Amino acid sequence: MTPRVALVGAGPGDPDLLTVKAARLLAAADVVVHDALVGDGVLALAAPHAELIDVGKRPGRPVPQELISSLLVELGRSGKRVVRLKGGDPFVFGRGGEEAQALLAAGIAFEVVPGITSAVAAPAAAGVPVTHRGVAASFTVVTGHRRAGEPDVDWRSLARVGGTVVVLMGVSERATIAAELMAGGLDPATPVAAVQSATTFDQVVARCRLDELAATPIEPPATIVIGPVAALALTTDAVRAGAR
Ligand code: SAH
Repeated sequence: MTPRVALVGAGPGDPDLLTVKAARLLAAADVVVHDALVGDGVLALAAPHAELIDVGKRPGRPVPQELISSLLVELGRSGKRVVRLKGGDPFVFGRGGEEAQALLAAGIAFEVVPGITSAVAAPAAAGVPVTHRGVAASFTVVTGHRRAGEPDVDWRSLARVGGTVVVLMGVSERATIAAELMAGGLDPATPVAAVQSATTFDQVVARCRLDELAATPIEPPATIVIGPVAALALTTDAVRAGAR
């Protein structure tokens, strides 16, 4: 079956960080169903005739996931070439799995096109390698966002895992996250780097210690990196430049 719907990762923000396949599918799409975090630079790569549908979940104007899934099923049946564009990678906290399940259940052929996840790209944009020889042999990617009815992250156990902790969607819960990690035994002096709007013109990097995280101003979307690697700043760009 030729895929009618593609669940496509748009990467962290910079259009240059799209995959070649994502750019090709975008240029050929009839309909692009996208999230709020997908920037104009990426959307500009869609075909001029393509219909753009913003289903971004924003406070005060939520689009229920079931509605997005049924929209994809309906569009998939229409015979149009549909690109479902998600920030980062579609299967990393992108709810792409649920959309894939809906398409499977409806018998609609689809494909998944991975993207560069912000879990890795945002730290990199600040010159933070998530693993580093002799410093961190693993990294754990967690959500900081608590949803009713879903299992919470066991922060205290995570504190004992070692390696780097990468928190997505953690800005509003950062005080609790820091407190729980310290209660689990993580050193209050553990370095933290928070990368806001990574790889876009609005990128801001904040660095602090774990016990300063609660009081450090950070605006979403941000990726928070906790661990000794967060003290590194392996970059020569004082000011980021490029076409974003
Ligand atoms: N599927 C996405 C993650 C979706 S959850 C991915 O793989 O990247 C949304 C969270 O991703 C945000 O709350 C933030 O923590 C992170 N994020 C997305 N874009 C970002 C960016 N440009 N800079 C920093 N963090 C980002």
